[in-house]
Amino acid sequence: MAIVVITIDVIDEYQMTTSMQIPVLIVGGGPTGLCLALCLRKKGVECMVIEQNETPTVHSRSIGIHPPSLDLFTHLGIAERFLEEGIKIRQGHAYLNRSYMGSIQFSCLPPPHQYVLSIPQSKTESILEQACKEVDKTLVRRGVSLQSYEQNSDGVLVHVTNSLGEEQQITCEVLVGCDGKQSMVRENAGIAFHGSRYPDTYLMGDFEDTTSFGDDAMITLHQDGLVESFPLESGRRRWVVKTEAYITDPSDEELKQLIHQRTGIDLPEVSSTMLSSFGVQHFLAETFVKGRVILAGDAAHVISPIGGQGMNLGWLDCDVLADELAKRFGTTSKYEESLSKYSHKQRFIAKQAGKRAEWNMKMGRSFQRNWSKYGMLQLMIRTPIQRVLAQLFTMQHLGKWWI
Ligand SMILES: Cc1cc2nc3c(=O)[nH]c(=O)nc-3n(C[C@H](O)[C@H](O)[C@H](O)COP(=O)(O)OP(=O)(O)OC[C@H]3O[C@@H](n4cnc5c(N)ncnc54)[C@H](O)[C@@H]3O)c2cc1C
Repeated sequence: MAIVVITIDVIDEYQMTTSMQIPVLIVGGGPTGLCLALCLRKKGVECMVIEQNETPTVHSRSIGIHPPSLDLFTHLGIAERFLEEGIKIRQGHAYLNRSYMGSIQFSCLPPPHQYVLSIPQSKTESILEQACKEVDKTLVRRGVSLQSYEQNSDGVLVHVTNSLGEEQQITCEVLVGCDGKQSMVRENAGIAFHGSRYPDTYLMGDFEDTTSFGDDAMITLHQDGLVESFPLESGRRRWVVKTEAYITDPSDEELKQLIHQRTGIDLPEVSSTMLSSFGVQHFLAETFVKGRVILAGDAAHVISPIGGQGMNLGWLDCDVLADELAKRFGTTSKYEESLSKYSHKQRFIAKQAGKRAEWNMKMGRSFQRNWSKYGMLQLMIRTPIQRVLAQLFTMQHLGKWWI
């Protein structure tokens, strides 16, 4: 196997000019790119992350971390950091309109992580980036943007600009696009991204928590549409409400009014610390591997955020991809063979997770007053099916054909 020696002249925050060997270049320092770097380094594969933003995100966007991701973080030696910062959601209470139906318990999950961890995405990324820095202070290069690349049978020639706008070239053996939904890596490789927008739209906000739900989640299936709420750090709570149409310029008052109307809960007078309107989409790349270019995370798949599994799905990619790349760089096994395994397996898992997310979303749509939904919910919550629901919500058995 030929190791390609690359020379990088990127003036970064450490003000240094570096020359090093980088078999794997990761584009994007979001949750997927940072986690992949940790997984690869754990397996002894040299890599580097380039991230266009000079400063980390401050947004709380994604909050749910599921047990399979916590298992991966345990393996990486960083689970404790998440557990110290996050809130363990051990059960969720379900309402139909204003009637209490029962609760879904996560105690039926395999130990040790019998809960979903709530932690804002900004904290998640900062824990991952700090862990990267501890491995190697130059593992993540901020302020460096991918501009274009060309691949041939020997490697990939990557054109980037640094924070001073200077053009640089990097040569690597494998280029991994963890650059999100609009992935330039994917577009440049000509990989089709099939999918569409759902008609569903939501309003989401973080407020001071004045409810009595404590560390529990709450979900209301209301005839006018779903209301969900989850505990957040610092005594706050995340609220997500289904809306009739996309609200361009949302206000706290609109969200508070919808919550009151559907649940009877009054949110506090104080303003939200985050308020956002969003629509939902589903997309899947036709392949996750094309020659020496690989996709992971949102660059490869986008699923509905209802159910909160998109970021976790990216981490599952990292675990499998790091294994396959470690084989590639550690033995003489054929490059295409190990990576096509990654593409097939993770595409299957992404499709499955996408279907589960779609089901979650459809359950939360508005409905005419009817007894069938009431009956179905009773059945799901008050019988052993509850256990299956808990497993589906927490990303258990993904990749198994029967579920
Ligand atoms: C409202 C909402 C709520 C959500 N809640 C959850 C949840 O609770 N749980 C969950 O699992 N998921 C959730 N998700 C999904 C989750 O946020 C995404 O799946 C996750 O952020 C994807 O991570 P990523 O690293 O693949 O991509 P991104 O987070 O998009 O990161 C991509 C990175 O690549 C960088 N980049 C892009 N282009 C370039 C370039 N040319 N050069 C260099 N860098 C580049 C970007 O700056 C960015 O930092 C939610 C999503 C939404 C919209």
